[in-house]
Amino acid sequence: MDIRIGNGYDVHALAPGLPMWLGGVQIPSETGFVAHSDGDVAIHALCDALLGALALGDIGHLFPDTSAEWKGIDSKILLRKVVDLIHEKGWQVGNVDITIALQRPKLAPHIVTMRETLSPILGITPDRVSVKATTTERLGFVGRCEGCEVWATALLIQR
Ligand code: MG
Repeated sequence: MDIRIGNGYDVHALAPGLPMWLGGVQIPSETGFVAHSDGDVAIHALCDALLGALALGDIGHLFPDTSAEWKGIDSKILLRKVVDLIHEKGWQVGNVDITIALQRPKLAPHIVTMRETLSPILGITPDRVSVKATTTERLGFVGRCEGCEVWATALLIQR
């Protein structure tokens, strides 16, 4: 059995009055992400982890933010495209682990919904989709509520 591991990282700035999409779920919030797409920074980091496992570059390369095609796009569509690409290459997702650093709002009430939203797209059960959230104890740009930072790890298994 051949396996591959990948990691992904992304940051988006926060601004008032924009929608906040994280892990495929809209989070009630006074601020949202400044972005070319819907700004789902968790899905973007996850896509980069999946692509990284097969050394296929990153989502900025696959879906350039200069292209009108991807403007305002639901990041779940981007994730579906990345998973399709992985399947085409003869691999399947084993499990993923995502850590979101955000000062507010609290994400705990939304974690299960994120796992249940992402798992069918990834083609795995929710017990293979880990989503964790933390604040940064008010330190740094996350702590000042200027942005959100996400790390993701993905394991792929050869089919
Ligand atoms: Mg991004």
